[in-house]
This record gives sequence, structure tokens and C-alpha cells, in this order.
Amino acid sequence: MRQVFKDPSYEAAWQRYRWRALAHLGALLGGFLSAALLAVMRGAVLGGPVAGLKYLGLSWFITLPITSYRVARWPCPRCGHPFHQRGEVALCTTPSCLHCGLPKWAASAHAP
Ligand SMILES: [Zn+2]
Repeated sequence: MRQVFKDPSYEAAWQRYRWRALAHLGALLGGFLSAALLAVMRGAVLGGPVAGLKYLGLSWFITLPITSYRVARWPCPRCGHPFHQRGEVALCTTPSCLHCGLPKWAASAHAP
């Protein structure tokens, strides 16, 4: 039977990655749904243009690139380089680190 070693620092690093990914997903979906809801409500409920719509769009326009950048630049727990980015190319769905090949969700540096 093969024994799997779990490095607590890796678990903490993956937990930070989860939060960054959730923040990005929340910004993506939450902003879109809020904008769609406000656009539907526009005129129907308030009888005129919704003043907050442009501020919501502006905050979405600022938040989305920031959260995307934080996911792309998340440091690999093994090598410390951006896990999802190599040079100018960012692949947020990559199954392994683009620098050292560490598999996503690996429990330690000795993962296959
Ligand atoms: Zn790496």
C-alpha cells in the first residue's frame, strides 16, 4: 500500500487558490447577474434609468481583471512561479504547473 504524504503548507496554498478562484467566479457571475437584473428592472419598477447601473458596470470592469490576475498569478506551492502563467500566456484551466509540472491539487512536492 502506497502511503500519501500531505504537506500542510500545500493544503493551505490550495485553500488560498480556492478563495481566489471563488472570488473570480463570484465577480464574473455576480456582476453579470446583478447587471442583468438591474437592466430588466430598468424602467419597469423605477420608471427610469437606474443610476447605479453605470457604477455597477464600472466596479465590474475594475473587479474582474483584478480577480482574474490574482488567479493567473497564484504562486505554485512547489516552485513559487505563477502556476497558471508562463510568460505572457495564462492558462487558467491547466492541470499542472506551467513551470515545474506539479499536478493541480497535489498534496505534497513529491506528487507524481
Ligand atoms: Zn510549479
